[in-house]
Amino acid sequence: MAKKSPPLTLVYPAERAVIPNGLPGIFLYGAAPAGARLLVNGVKAAVYKTGSWLVYIPVHTGNFDINLHCRAGGKTYTYKRSVFINEPPQPPAPRKTERLKAGPASRKIPSSQFTKAQPLKGLKVFLDPGHSFVPRHEHDGKTSPQGIYEHKINYQIALAARRKLRAMGAFVKLSKKYKEQMDLPTRTDKAHGWGADIFLSIHNNSWPDNVNPFRQKNGYGFYYYYRRSVPLARALERSYRRHIKELPDEGIKFADFSVTRNSPQIPAVLIESAYITLPEHEALLLKPAFIERLARAIAEGVLDFANPQAAANLIK
Ligand SMILES: [Zn+2]
Repeated sequence: MAKKSPPLTLVYPAERAVIPNGLPGIFLYGAAPAGARLLVNGVKAAVYKTGSWLVYIPVHTGNFDINLHCRAGGKTYTYKRSVFINEPPQPPAPRKTERLKAGPASRKIPSSQFTKAQPLKGLKVFLDPGHSFVPRHEHDGKTSPQGIYEHKINYQIALAARRKLRAMGAFVKLSKKYKEQMDLPTRTDKAHGWGADIFLSIHNNSWPDNVNPFRQKNGYGFYYYYRRSVPLARALERSYRRHIKELPDEGIKFADFSVTRNSPQIPAVLIESAYITLPEHEALLLKPAFIERLARAIAEGVLDFANPQAAANLIK
């Protein structure tokens, strides 16, 4: 049976009617029949093998009409939508908080139980798959061009990472069940209540409205709030560099995220593995083997941080 071509869709910004945007352009993405030729307001969109498409087009503030015109397999598909584009918001004044980020004294990594066979035995790793399933809306977080929700992919990565960390002897707890909705403070409260040694929040990235995705680095990145989390971020970054060679490294950055800010006693890092909104990255994230590799990168990063000697033996 021939595979049914997906219809022409505009995933972003279809979910939103008002977009604050810095001129001069906006990115749009969605899905089209495979092999389509797609024009968006007369600009040729990049259509990838999966049928996912992405374009960056000029805009003006006020009412803005989006016209998709697509030809595939001798058929023509069209789609029209209007959005309202606001003046860009004033950038917030930079916060001068980074130098205050020592936090209370760190707990020690409990290494006494580590063995050769179980190099993370007894270590409590809390994995927080980002975002939630929301009934009716079905999710918060971002949506990929093919309509895959970020929370779903984050959860798959967390489950795979849990398997790998457990195989090394770690205790692993996930912040939530798959269809559970959970706010951010509850996630960190659960980690502290459990006595976690390490907190990892697992996400996939996207761009702010006023960015040209074709001019970005578009790779993986690691975000911390307290300085004490930097060595964990470094270990994860080293491991991603070993395992995720097809993506560039965006590095380690300070960011004021609730989950890392509210984890002051333990090393806490938020990982953005790939850009779910970028068709090439979406194609990777839809491959189970890539999810496994991300999970391996996460697990070996934790090993490198908590038990560097075991990690060195493994990498040799
Ligand atoms: Zn996210």
